[in-house]
Amino acid sequence: MSTSSPHERSNDPYPALRRQLHRTYLLRSTLGLLEWDQQTGLPPEAAGLRSEQSSLLAELAHEAFTSDETRATLEALEASDPSPTDDSAVVARLVRRDYDRATRLPTRFVREKTEHLNLAYHAWSRSRAKDDFAQFAPFLKKNLELAREEASLQGWESNPYDYHIDLHDPGVTANKVESLFRQLKEPLLELVGRILEGSPAPASSLFNGFSESAQERCARLATEAIGFDYRRGRLDRSLHPFCSGDGQDTRLTTRFHPDNPLDSLFSSLHEAGHGLYCQGLPADEVATPLGEAVGMAIHESQSRLWENQVGRSRAFWTHFAPIYRRHFPEQLRDVSDDELLRAVNRVSLNPIRVDSDEVTYNLHIMLRFELEQALFSGDLEVEALPAEWNRLSLDLIGLQPANDAEGVLQDIHWSGGAFGYFPSYTLGNLIAAQLWYKALEILPGLEESLAKGDFSPLLEWLRNTIHRHGRRFDTEELVTLATGQGISTEPLLRYLKERYVPAGVSGRSVGSV
Ligand code: ZN
Repeated sequence: MSTSSPHERSNDPYPALRRQLHRTYLLRSTLGLLEWDQQTGLPPEAAGLRSEQSSLLAELAHEAFTSDETRATLEALEASDPSPTDDSAVVARLVRRDYDRATRLPTRFVREKTEHLNLAYHAWSRSRAKDDFAQFAPFLKKNLELAREEASLQGWESNPYDYHIDLHDPGVTANKVESLFRQLKEPLLELVGRILEGSPAPASSLFNGFSESAQERCARLATEAIGFDYRRGRLDRSLHPFCSGDGQDTRLTTRFHPDNPLDSLFSSLHEAGHGLYCQGLPADEVATPLGEAVGMAIHESQSRLWENQVGRSRAFWTHFAPIYRRHFPEQLRDVSDDELLRAVNRVSLNPIRVDSDEVTYNLHIMLRFELEQALFSGDLEVEALPAEWNRLSLDLIGLQPANDAEGVLQDIHWSGGAFGYFPSYTLGNLIAAQLWYKALEILPGLEESLAKGDFSPLLEWLRNTIHRHGRRFDTEELVTLATGQGISTEPLLRYLKERYVPAGVSGRSVGSV
């Protein structure tokens, strides 16, 4: 928040509310930093202490946001009856939504939930390392109980899963997701079949001995090239790549494997896509809803667009292949540009979601969506989850994981109580494809500029179309505003077909833009 606001007048409730929101923002961003640290550098024996620290900060942030002072100021702002399109009216409407949600949760509940989620994260981490689902099961059960209790406290007891989807993507319901996934499923399965039939996977020994330090330099160069500002961010390593923080301090993480260098590169591009969204939100609104992301589907559309539509394109590799080769002259000596691009656009069946390609990825999300629906409806017990996971995996993805560590325990989300989050990934893929075609239509010469390493026209367009609005519009409203239509499956299917099944070239899955 800026310290000298043009709205500043004594008795004016708007600047007063902004000051109060700023205090909550400071507490929440400190909590976010502790959570980042928990996943990047916390010594295992410090988990108990961190759990206490995090719950104290969560409690203070909750108290600051729900204080009598905030309520009185919000009421005064509402009573001043600003014009509905004024920033102050938009902020009042969104703070009211958040305030009502936060005050329906007693401090006791918030504390219990935060403490339990910290323990559940460590239980998941241990249980995954030992491939022992039974160790994690009681924590997951409790997470589900807390999730149902929260929905019920919020007045969503009859449709708790909708509540959790809405938390991530305002305005989106399980019915909406189900309908989109129904339209996507058959054409996607058919497409995967066609691609796999015609495309022998490249030899897995194509990449060997890529040093971590050179991989790290490439990740940094690629993310800087697309516009990530390292004066306001950094890149570290973690078990599961993520992006946290806000536009003032944006934390990206990735991971390195010497024989799988594309993993660190593409997770860095993905997380930097999230980071670009954070850095593009209005800086002077950092503590208000106008400086926050709409939700996870829009967030994912940003990360997917940079990772896939841009990062896997021939245009991007026209620019980046020479840089990559400079860092790995020996390792890439016998790899042609076409082979490199084929590896970048490789489609294969994989039991692990985060290791899967952009085509089959959506099948992983459909699996999780079905399981979450069944867990919330009570049709599925936690004990039966691993078997059901394996059955659906065979049904949708065409293979079974070798064990639970590679199956039901592979994701961090449920350990953190993040139910209703998975659908956002595929919604993000749908929206990314919609934005991509709109950008191609609006920006003449876009691919030529990408091939020259100039990513600024696309970033500028995204800043103007998506980033600058903060939470002013709900998920689907923003998509409609940006692309002229609501969330739709056709652009993604068209994009996957065009990139992976080029017209007139049967049986090759070469990326071609
Ligand atoms: Zn993401």
